Amino acid sequence: MEKLTLFNTLTRKKEEFNPIEDGIAKVYCCGPTVYNFAHIGNLRSYFFEDILKRVLLYNGYKVEHVMNITDVGHLVSDDDEGEDKMEKGSAREGKTVWEIANFYTEAFKKDIALLNIIPPTIYCKATDNIFEQIDLIICLEKKGFTYVTGDGVYYDTSKFPDYGKLARLDIEGLEEGKRIEFSSDKKNKTDFALWKFSPKNEKRQMEWESPWGKGFPGWHIECSAMSRKYLGDTFDIHCGGVDHIPIHHTNEIAQTEGCTGKKSVNYWLHGEFLIEEKGKMSKSSGEFLRLQTLIDKGYSPLDYRYFLLMTHYRKKIKFSFENLDSARNGYNNLKTRLAELKSLTLNTDTINILNTETYLNKFIDCINDDLNAGEGLALTWELLKDNELNPTEKLFLTNLFDKIFGLNLDKVEAAKKDVTIPADITKLAEKRKEAKRNKDFKLADELRKEIKEKGYEVVDEKDGKFSIKIIRL
Ligand SMILES: [Zn+2]
Repeated sequence: MEKLTLFNTLTRKKEEFNPIEDGIAKVYCCGPTVYNFAHIGNLRSYFFEDILKRVLLYNGYKVEHVMNITDVGHLVSDDDEGEDKMEKGSAREGKTVWEIANFYTEAFKKDIALLNIIPPTIYCKATDNIFEQIDLIICLEKKGFTYVTGDGVYYDTSKFPDYGKLARLDIEGLEEGKRIEFSSDKKNKTDFALWKFSPKNEKRQMEWESPWGKGFPGWHIECSAMSRKYLGDTFDIHCGGVDHIPIHHTNEIAQTEGCTGKKSVNYWLHGEFLIEEKGKMSKSSGEFLRLQTLIDKGYSPLDYRYFLLMTHYRKKIKFSFENLDSARNGYNNLKTRLAELKSLTLNTDTINILNTETYLNKFIDCINDDLNAGEGLALTWELLKDNELNPTEKLFLTNLFDKIFGLNLDKVEAAKKDVTIPADITKLAEKRKEAKRNKDFKLADELRKEIKEKGYEVVDEKDGKFSIKIIRL
């Protein structure tokens, strides 16, 4: 297999990817909290993970891809405070939390499909894995990582020696700030809830019995429990947005490694934000852009995919409709170019390995350099302008590269416009026909070459007839 390098947040370095099992890549990605529609900033994370998956597949790996659906326990604040997002969605819409979860899970899957994102091998819901989460908390309790307060079971982060290594957190600095901004029964600022008790005088829609009392799991525990269940104690790649680094993923490491005593994940990959002029795009402001908003404004979901493709996943993207317009133009130009090429393709054209090899090598170098698909897209434009390649070779390469881009380029239809052959070309072809009739094959051959140099090809048919095709624009 070709060398593939990925930027590992754990080491802050690009590292060569070496899977635990030969030929198999085990990937876990944090999925959506299904209390509302995904905004286009959320979708960028799933797009980046899709590029990762496509690059692994392109390299010949079998990909076991697991994504969770958070349908309980994610509180409005990452500090275990505030309402449960699901209950909030339920109150907002006057539906049960279960209805809310089903509705927004389906909406999410629809968005994913519209963006041509390959769905995960397994979608797993937090509420389907309560037992596994309780089991993991019991394991942590046995090993002395937990304590119980008035409102739940907490993880004592001071007991986990490497706590914060992923985010390179300044724990002492955080502790100093604790007295001012933080008051609760937590022992350390970074401690977090593994299990929250249901409020005394209130019946929650989602609650379960546990060894510590009725309640619901904290948000972080589901990912540790489900990644372990489906991919094992140690697996290859864990993905998410950069906002997951300081809390969610840091806590996942503490939970899984606290229980198993083994390294949980070899490569941590994080995608950057999509930002509006005002800052990070989020749902908290109320108004937010979702994929349907773009569709309502006349954009196709793949215009947005092309837009995302242009920027490397570790760079921020500033979203504006102006930028989306130029991406749409780029995508349309690409499709037009391919439609023209398809109308020029000759049956007689063959693919010359030497011609295409250079581009194939350059392409894999781009995508295997920490998923630089944007550079792969620039390379595609370069090959389309290369006169050394015939239309069949150009289409072959572009369709192959689209396995990464996911832009449905193979579905582009040939341009239907009538092509007129200039009179001087027809005259040369007639002269060639005459030469052939006189058995002057040397002259006939020279004329064929001359015609070809001008970008046309004479195709001999039965009974001395011929047709002329354009091979170059
Ligand atoms: Zn997660």
